[in-house]
Amino acid sequence: MITCTRCGNKNSDNSQSCEKCGHKLQSGFARFNGSPLSSKKNSDQFNITFEHADIFAKHGEAWVYALFLLAAVVFFTYQQVYWPLYILTPLVAILAWFRKI
Ligand SMILES: [Zn+2]
Repeated sequence: MITCTRCGNKNSDNSQSCEKCGHKLQSGFARFNGSPLSSKKNSDQFNITFEHADIFAKHGEAWVYALFLLAAVVFFTYQQVYWPLYILTPLVAILAWFRKI
């Protein structure tokens, strides 16, 4: 079904021009883009994608803290200096807790 953009008459899919007023009919692609329903659906999909990106950002931050702590443990163990770990470990834990990870 193709709706005429000039008079609103509904024409069959294979008609080249409007049966009522003779206006040249648009292709199916143009009709699909003009639908207000499709634009609403696109914005909903964007919101869901954005929320997912936020969750992934939190996970990434948690991994950064974990890897930083691991690197610090390896570094100070290699240096045979253990006291900074007793400060650093709770600091990172508190930081992660404040960031609600
Ligand atoms: Zn028409």
